[in-house]
Amino acid sequence: MRYTEPKDRSAELLRVTLGHMGRHAAAFNPVTFTLWYEYAAGINPPLHAAIEQLLRDQVNLGDELVAQLYEAHVVPTDAAAVQKVGGELQKVMRGIAASAAHTGERAGLFGAQLDDLSLALRSNDVATLTPQLDEARAGTAEMRHSADALQQQVSAGQNEIARLRTDLDRARGEALIDPLTGILNRKGFDQRIAALLQEAPAGSDAHCLVLLDIDHFKKVNDAHGHVMGDRVLQGIGEILRQSVAGSPHAVARYGGEEFAIVLAHSRVADAQRLAEQVRQRAKAMKIRNRNTQEVLFTVTLSGGVTALCAGDDAQTLVARADAALYESKHGGRDRVSCA
Ligand code: GH3
Ligand code: MG
Ligand code: MG
Repeated sequence: MRYTEPKDRSAELLRVTLGHMGRHAAAFNPVTFTLWYEYAAGINPPLHAAIEQLLRDQVNLGDELVAQLYEAHVVPTDAAAVQKVGGELQKVMRGIAASAAHTGERAGLFGAQLDDLSLALRSNDVATLTPQLDEARAGTAEMRHSADALQQQVSAGQNEIARLRTDLDRARGEALIDPLTGILNRKGFDQRIAALLQEAPAGSDAHCLVLLDIDHFKKVNDAHGHVMGDRVLQGIGEILRQSVAGSPHAVARYGGEEFAIVLAHSRVADAQRLAEQVRQRAKAMKIRNRNTQEVLFTVTLSGGVTALCAGDDAQTLVARADAALYESKHGGRDRVSCA
């Protein structure tokens, strides 16, 4: 089955998909829908890469382009895509096996020639020795040639396998990104935290975690609709991305309207400062009517900051940040607390 997203996730994707369809020129037909749905779900890496490039170039996707992308990246995927990687691997393996078999055959012939030569040497028959020596010399050259070919085939195979692994890594990377905001998703966040837990903080630094939750976000959806809600989520994602640009820190969409910043090797005061900066930037973000530019509303964030302590695991770390976030909510929201 190509689409395995459960109903609530597919509802979220549906909204994102319709948003893309609305912004681009192509007709609202199933082909256009499939294309944008697969893009939003992040389940088709080549299609994702192709569309990302077009969006970077600010191309508006019309019917013709949509049809081309569909032909190139949607029709041949699924079983065909798996078959393709499998087929490529098989080709590599077949090439190596053929070269190895050929080298093995050559080695057999070469062995027989050496046996003959050894017999001739024992018989002291000089007349037969010369042709046997010539044959053995030729056999040696062929053997070397054959072994060289095998070695080349093996190293080409290694390169090919490395390339396939990169493709696979890229596909895996796509599965760690939240399609709505383009930052890490929950799985990406979990992996980042797990990696951090393996790594001792340097000197007096600590690893820190910031959780941020949009205040009264349900009201935004209720008053302005989910599409507008999604725009807010995208805006917060962008603020977060910019706030850690050029740093080793990671940002993630932790859940529906909840975000996280993972700060490696830093101080709680730095984490607090960064959280505060994001809070202020989010508060300053104005959501406008796209046609009239009228400011419709703004949002606020509540935050919780904590540092990794000895004996922490991912769960206890998140629970402490969550407790600090809860304190911010109860203290009146639109603030950052530390635990
Ligand atoms: P609080 O200040 O206590 O956090 O209140 P809240 O309304 O933000 O919290 P609540 O947990 O009651 O509601 C969260 C809302 O977030 C409900 C849900 O519809 C919305 N939400 C979750 N994911 C998405 C999404 O992907 N898109 C949109 N538009 N809304 C979402
Ligand atoms: Mg909320
Ligand atoms: Mg929440």
